[in-house]
Amino acid sequence: IVQMEKVNKHFGELHVLKDIDLTIRPGEVVVVIGASGSGKSTLIRCINGLEEFQAGHIEVDGNELLPYGKSSRALQTIRTEVGMVFQQFNLFPHLSVRDNVTLAPMKVRGWNLADATETANRLLERVGIADQADKYPSQLSGGQQQRVALARALAMEPRLMLFDEPTSALDPEMIGEVLDAMRELAREGMTMIIVTHEMGFAREVADRVVFIHRGEIVEQAAPDVLFDSPQHERTQSFLSRVL
Ligand code: ATP
Ligand code: MG
Repeated sequence: IVQMEKVNKHFGELHVLKDIDLTIRPGEVVVVIGASGSGKSTLIRCINGLEEFQAGHIEVDGNELLPYGKSSRALQTIRTEVGMVFQQFNLFPHLSVRDNVTLAPMKVRGWNLADATETANRLLERVGIADQADKYPSQLSGGQQQRVALARALAMEPRLMLFDEPTSALDPEMIGEVLDAMRELAREGMTMIIVTHEMGFAREVADRVVFIHRGEIVEQAAPDVLFDSPQHERTQSFLSRVL
């Protein structure tokens, strides 16, 4: 569903992504790990067109992103097909939980209020916060807010979900409830690319773990293989620091 070929990205002088080749199959759960500043966020932001890149080629569900492709048709389609959950929940503070979830399907997909509300209620139920639907984001815990963000992304019926450190801003006791919701989503067959430092979760849920170092994919393998017998010295030293 995702194909990246020789993708290169610069921020001015800084070469942030170097010849990235990455293929994601439908239903796959891929976890991206690497040190701070290695390019993890930039990598996944390129996939939904939040960042442009300078060379290479990205295809997402048959839509092609090209270098410097700011306003392509494909970009609009990709934005509607790819859901994203960020470290900071980015909810609309002035909208209720339910309205946060119904807004995009109504605006972008043209759903009517009744259908959008029904879907929102179902999704909020699914992530375990149906009882919070009439509250505002500021009235919720971090873990609850992040589950609203997840429900909001799912409301667009995405073909692919991107997660950028979804639990990094949460208090420890709330991490589990967000990981549980993601685990459930993975079990239902959603295609997911997840940047996380939760190595236990990665080991349990990922089909494949990708290690990135200074903008390069150094190694990728099934979690057992990558965590228990990393081949590359860079992977070994990174894992010795985080495991
Ligand atoms: P972290 O684990 O800290 O989130 P990361 O692996 O997600 O790190 P990126 O955010 O992708 O790393 O950043 C990769 C490099 O690109 C870093 O050196 C960062 O400083 C730089 N960078 C990121 N965004 C920008 C930007 N908008 N302008 C200039 N440089 C940037
Ligand atoms: Mg990041």
